[in-house]
Amino acid sequence: MFKQAGIRRMPVALKSSVAASVRNHSHLPLATKITLPNGKTYEQPTGLFINNEFVPSRQSKTFEVINPSTEEEVCHVYEGREDDVNIAVDAAEKAFKSGVWSRAHPQVRMRALNKLADLIEADAETVASIESLDNGKAIQHARGDVALAVAYLRSVAGWADKVDGRVIETDSEHFTYTKREPIGVVGQIIPWNFPLLMWSWKVGPALATGNTVVLKTAESTPLSALYVSKFVAEAGIPPGVLNIVSGFGKIVGEAISTHMKIKKVAFTGSTATGRHILAAAAHSNLKKVTLELGGKSPNIIFDDANVEQTVQNLLVGIFYNSGEVCCAGSRLYVQEGIYDEVLEAFKTAAEAIKVGDPFDDATFQGAQTSQQQLDKILSYVKKGKEEGARVITGGERLGNKGYFVKPTIFADVKEDFTIVKEEIFGPVITISKFKTLDEIVDKANDSEYGLAAGIHTTSLSTAIEASNRLEAGTVWVNTYNDFDPQTPFGGFKQSGIGREMGTEALDNYTNVKAVRMRI
Ligand code: ADP
Repeated sequence: MFKQAGIRRMPVALKSSVAASVRNHSHLPLATKITLPNGKTYEQPTGLFINNEFVPSRQSKTFEVINPSTEEEVCHVYEGREDDVNIAVDAAEKAFKSGVWSRAHPQVRMRALNKLADLIEADAETVASIESLDNGKAIQHARGDVALAVAYLRSVAGWADKVDGRVIETDSEHFTYTKREPIGVVGQIIPWNFPLLMWSWKVGPALATGNTVVLKTAESTPLSALYVSKFVAEAGIPPGVLNIVSGFGKIVGEAISTHMKIKKVAFTGSTATGRHILAAAAHSNLKKVTLELGGKSPNIIFDDANVEQTVQNLLVGIFYNSGEVCCAGSRLYVQEGIYDEVLEAFKTAAEAIKVGDPFDDATFQGAQTSQQQLDKILSYVKKGKEEGARVITGGERLGNKGYFVKPTIFADVKEDFTIVKEEIFGPVITISKFKTLDEIVDKANDSEYGLAAGIHTTSLSTAIEASNRLEAGTVWVNTYNDFDPQTPFGGFKQSGIGREMGTEALDNYTNVKAVRMRI
């Protein structure tokens, strides 16, 4: 079973601290030696990845990558601009039109994706360490991400030769059938909370169905996607099929979402940026858009729940990945009969988790990914206190070096508190009491979001009735942040458009063509 979490987000502006660190760096080598905190040294590619080669950006600008647990510089990588996006798109278009990938036998794509998965798996510990270094997440969770990314590539590879159409019986004078075709060059924009996992959710189905890709990593976490790019040629993926342009949202992201040759864009990130990308698609070439956005997911505990098991799910629901999870169970509702018991058990459990050095195997909660995210979380914590929420535990930064926040539980919150309404994207949870199923369904659904929900109960009918009535793309029952490659994931309401994983992901990357012949 894969016990992992979803996605990421935050505001739209070019981060000032990152922007300040942009340099003209014409002599930056295309790879640099990095010594990981575990003592291992590896070669980190720093170029853009176009046509199966690492190349400098046209303007030779670079930007700094920060280790969030020490606030020190890890390295610089090349920063793409609009001209680099154009070059990558041209490479992707040429590869698409050549048919070398798009019209190859599906088993060619299946074999290549499986090989890519094998190569990443064989180097899993290095990849996990890179992820942990760059994002700040606990190494145990980074290992889980790599395993899940590998599993997903294999799952979607298995679908590559199962994409098919229908024969439609109409009348004896016609022969009518449908087929599914790749869309063309697709643009993909990923976030910083699960850099490699989101890379796999994006490139996997796009490549399995024969598209070619131009992907932008998040500016704070470019390293893992560049690192695994070194396996692309060896896996048998031809030049131009998978291209990576590192850079900023307002430049590279904008160039992708407005590009006239990009036929589809897939995005994971904040609702604000998702809305912007949808508008950019509408104003350019009406490219198809799929969005996986924010959430404020309710996690609901009924009186008959198994408290011990539920508390473990609460920890995974909110403190996993430092709370930087779009589907985090950040609104906890406990039925009145066990409210005090759950509060006490959850407080004890939250205080027992190890927060700190991501490279310590025992650490459960590492660093937040950036100074901006740390500041944002702490401002919500301040707001919660001002609004009158009771701090059960945490409620402050941990230490003063590295972006660490103490696991924070706010109790006795009211539904109109900012900390109950808005996505915090950190290790902060609010708790309130409810009496009946009707009441809790109304409260849970009173949100602009609809990404996920959790239900904890031993009653089958409560589980089914609540699952049916909750407005959420995923409902977890007696589990949380529990992902599987075959199970679709995505949002209702303002949490998104489209689904990732499962067979649903293939629909995002194919056009249906109907052929009707007169006999
Ligand atoms: P955050 O502000 O927390 O980085 P975003 O949703 O803005 O959250 O970021 C997710 C991804 O979206 C990142 O790769 C980011 O660079 C990209 N992005 C940000 N702004 C834009 C934009 N205007 N157009 C396209 N992509 C963008």
